[in-house]
Amino acid sequence: MRELRDLKAAQPELASAVDMQIELLGVQRRIQARVPLPSATFDQRKPDHKLCRPVLQFKDIPIDWSDFRLMIRQTADILRRFETLESADYDRIQGLARDGQIEGVVASWYEAAVGRRRADAHTPDRELLDQVLLLAMRPFLARCAEALLPRLELSDWQHPCCPLCGGEPEFAFINPAAERLLICGRCTGQWHFDAITCPFCENKDRSRITSFTSRDGRYRIYACDECHRYLKAFDGRDGRRPALLAVDSIATLPLDAAAIQRGYQS
Ligand SMILES: [Zn+2]
Ligand SMILES: [Zn+2]
Repeated sequence: MRELRDLKAAQPELASAVDMQIELLGVQRRIQARVPLPSATFDQRKPDHKLCRPVLQFKDIPIDWSDFRLMIRQTADILRRFETLESADYDRIQGLARDGQIEGVVASWYEAAVGRRRADAHTPDRELLDQVLLLAMRPFLARCAEALLPRLELSDWQHPCCPLCGGEPEFAFINPAAERLLICGRCTGQWHFDAITCPFCENKDRSRITSFTSRDGRYRIYACDECHRYLKAFDGRDGRRPALLAVDSIATLPLDAAAIQRGYQS
């Protein structure tokens, strides 16, 4: 939270995005503190190295459904207050929180993680719902990542998807050894991945990856000239701090604008 306040002081144009993030983080932390330790019932501690498939089964995620519904409602309230949700969408999401079918909706969202973006024609409605589910599931999945990811044997894991939950990377971290770690957009877990390869289409051709940094050099973008998607990274080679997804995703909003302007998409 302190880093977010510092960011707001340094870049007042990000104030509203920072305030929204502080509220989202507050709700997430309150719920996450109540999530019990997941029991590691996965049968293999080693994810299947030939397949991009999560080892964490949906049934093993310790979800308290009344907390989950609360998480959806409060997330929608915050997004609405900061005008990132239209009132029709807000009503639809609130309806979903009351819906008896919610468990099934969340289960299919969880299981469809792998390759969905490429497989489905995404409608804006679906995209919005996915975004809300992602935020609402974060306390439960982040708790799992915290407890279970360190226990997985990941030395041969070379996939661009999260070994724990199968999510796509949302951000990357360049560590003091100059290695690149990907950060899962769903559970916020981290894993090593090749420093150049595009995590979305696995293009390895260095000449087809466009890379540029923020003005202060703290952040980097890797944009792929094959699939036209990009990934942002926090450069932590100086060892000052680890990547902080909640802070770094807001601090890099100007970089997003620059990438989109060049024709790439997140
Ligand atoms: Zn994950
Ligand atoms: Zn690509």
